[in-house]
Amino acid sequence: MLLNITVLPGDGVGPEVTDEAVRVLESVAQLFGHQLSLARKDVGGAALLSANDPLPDDTLQACLASDAVLLGAVGGPSFDKFPSHLRPESGLLRLRRALGVFANLRPAVCFSSLEDCSPLRSEIVRGTNMVIVRELLGGIYFGEPRHTQGSAGNRSATDTMRYSEPEIERIAHVAFELARSRRHKVTSVDKANVLDCSRLWRGVVSRVGQQYADVKLSHMYVDSAAMALVTNPSDFDVLLTENMFGDILSDQAGGIVGSLGMLASASVGGRVGLYEPVHGSAPDIAGKGVANPLGAILSVAMLLRHSFQGNEEAQCIETSVSTVLAAGNRTRDLAKAGQSVLTTREMGHKITDAVRKYATATSRVPVT
Ligand code: NAD
Repeated sequence: MLLNITVLPGDGVGPEVTDEAVRVLESVAQLFGHQLSLARKDVGGAALLSANDPLPDDTLQACLASDAVLLGAVGGPSFDKFPSHLRPESGLLRLRRALGVFANLRPAVCFSSLEDCSPLRSEIVRGTNMVIVRELLGGIYFGEPRHTQGSAGNRSATDTMRYSEPEIERIAHVAFELARSRRHKVTSVDKANVLDCSRLWRGVVSRVGQQYADVKLSHMYVDSAAMALVTNPSDFDVLLTENMFGDILSDQAGGIVGSLGMLASASVGGRVGLYEPVHGSAPDIAGKGVANPLGAILSVAMLLRHSFQGNEEAQCIETSVSTVLAAGNRTRDLAKAGQSVLTTREMGHKITDAVRKYATATSRVPVT
C-alpha cells in the first residue's frame, strides 16, 4: 500500500517527538511492505516565522492532497502576544476545520507497568482503558460572535458556545459505534443543569442512543465527570463530550494514566485524518531531548488503524510500546527517583528495536 502522509512537526517538542514517530512509521512500513511518501511542512509558530501565516496555503494543500496528517504540536510563549488570527493555535483550528475532522478520539489507557506513575493509587487507576470522544469543530472554540470590546479598564469579551442538532448527532454516532467495538458503554458529559447547548446535547445524544440498544448510555455533568475521572477512572469506556469539556477532561485523563506525553489522538470524520499527541509544545522542556515520544508514536498507530485499516500494523506499535515500558524503560516524565532515564531519541530507538523483534516473533520478513 502507498502511505501518502503529510508530516507537520510544528513547534517546541513537536519536531523532537515527530522525528521518533516517523522513524517508527518507517520501520513499520518496511516491515509490512508499504511504500511511504512523506511531505514535511511547517505549521504553527514555525510557519509564522517562515511564511507569516500559521497555516500557509502550501501546507494546507499538501494536507488536503495526502491520506493522513501527522502533527507534533504548535505554540509557544514567543507567540503569545500575536493577534488571535496569527496565533499558532489558530493555524491548527483552521487545519481541523479544513479537513472536516469533527471527531477527536483520545484513548487514555493505563499500561500495567505504569500504574505506579499515576498520581492516583494503583488500585484506583488499574484497568483504566477509556476513549474520550471529543466534538472538535463546534462549541465555544468556533462560535461567533467572538470579540473583545471597549476601552482599557472597561473592556468586555464575548465567546459564543453554539451547537446544532446535526453536529451533535454525527459525533454521537461516532461514540456509539466505537462503544460497540469496546465495552458497550457511553458516558455523555455535559452541563445540562446550566447550559442550553448542553440540554440540546443531552436530548440529541439520548435520541441517537435509542438506535443502539446494545450500548448502555449514561449522562454526567462535567463537574461530576471531573471528579469521577479521579475516583473511578476504570469505570469509563467511551466518554462523549463537546469541544471545550473534552479538551480539559482529556488532559486530566493524561495526568491520571501517568503522563500527558503518553496520550495519542486521532481526529477523523473527513477524508483526511489528523493524528497528533494530545500534549502541547511543552516549551519548558523543548530542545532538551527529554520529551516523551510515546504519545506521538501511539498516534502513528492510530493513523495506521484509522486511515489505512492497518490493524496489525497498529497492534505491532502498541505491543512494542507496552513491551518497552514493561522492561522498565522510562523517559523523564515517567521515571521515579533513582530510575535511569532515556532521552527522546533513546526511547524512539527502543520502540523501533521492539518493532523489529515483533517482526521476528511473528515471522514477518522485512521488505527492502
Ligand atoms: P503542554 O502540553 O505543552 O505541557 C504541559 C506539561 O506537560 C508541561 O510540564 C510539559 O513539560 C509536559 N509535557 C507535555 N508534553 C510532554 C512530553 N511529550 N513529554 C514529557 N512531558 C510533556 O501544555 P502547555 O504548557 O499548557 O502549553 C504549551 C504550548 O502548547 C502553548 O502555546 C499551548 O497553546 C500549546 N498547545 C498546543 C497543543 C497542540 O498543538 N495540539 C495542545 C495543547 C497546548
